[in-house]
Amino acid sequence: MTAQIIDGKAQAQRLTATLTERVAARRAQGKPTPGLAVVLVGENAASQVYVRSKRRTSENAGMQSFAFDLPVETSHEALIAVIDRLNADPAVHGILVQLPLPKHVDTEAVTERIDPRKDVDGFHPYNIGRLVLKRPTLRPCTPYGCMTLLHSTGEDLVGRHAVVIGQSNIVGRPMALELLMARCTVTICHSATRDLPGLVRQADIVVAGVGKPNLVQGDWIKAGAIVIDVGINRTADGKLCGDVDFVAARERAGWITPVPGGVGPMTIATLLANTLRAAELQDS
Ligand code: NAD
Repeated sequence: MTAQIIDGKAQAQRLTATLTERVAARRAQGKPTPGLAVVLVGENAASQVYVRSKRRTSENAGMQSFAFDLPVETSHEALIAVIDRLNADPAVHGILVQLPLPKHVDTEAVTERIDPRKDVDGFHPYNIGRLVLKRPTLRPCTPYGCMTLLHSTGEDLVGRHAVVIGQSNIVGRPMALELLMARCTVTICHSATRDLPGLVRQADIVVAGVGKPNLVQGDWIKAGAIVIDVGINRTADGKLCGDVDFVAARERAGWITPVPGGVGPMTIATLLANTLRAAELQDS
């Protein structure tokens, strides 16, 4: 069996087109244009690429983009002051602080300082708590985007065994909560998990978010499984690849996301969806 490709780029374009129409409709009704503030501290090359893409995509969707590029030596207190200003600014509906932050900054304190109604990354304990309680408001973009990709297959997810590899706060944990909310039976694997291949072999759905190229081998994949590869890795020759051995896994899976062109574009489109949702929450 050769898997069908889950085209994240096409799905993201579809979602972004719908969001663009909804933003225009808001403006026509005299409602404020959704505003997204993206804060970058330092000059991490990968972060600069992500931030540029987030800003460009939000502008293309007719949103207002506010750029804050702060020097690496920005103090924790100065960053908190920027967040406070953005929290108080009615033109800013969404605040995203690009991670990772420099070591001298307390990332958790920064995340918790963002007004939960403007927390378009969905990382604030309030928003994670709502997801735990099955009453989500602003949901972490990457896992939420993965759910859109899973639903795009048209497969029934209810009762399926989903194996999530990785348990980080931004990928693995919220991914497991999303899958649980979709009524999957969920197994979470991490660096201390015993017999990862044996667990993956049982999975109807595999979501890999580790950051290790080819960690998930093709012969681990159950025939017909849906494989979502969140990993972004760079090979020695400079190419991007995921955590799954794509070529071998494609021969066994029913559906699979490519890297690039899978989860990455969907994450950004979902960020825009969250920004529009945040603006709607702040209308009232
Ligand atoms: P992280 O380093 O915070 O977490 C990695 C997780 O993998 C940890 O929970 C760890 O326990 C687990 N792990 C490590 N080695 C393992 C092993 N051998 N077997 C099983 N589990 C193991 O990373 P993260 O921030 O969650 O990101 C994970 C990957 O996803 C990275 O490649 C990152 O670049 C990518 N990512 C992609 C997007 C996107 O939009 N496509 C968004 C966020 C992260």
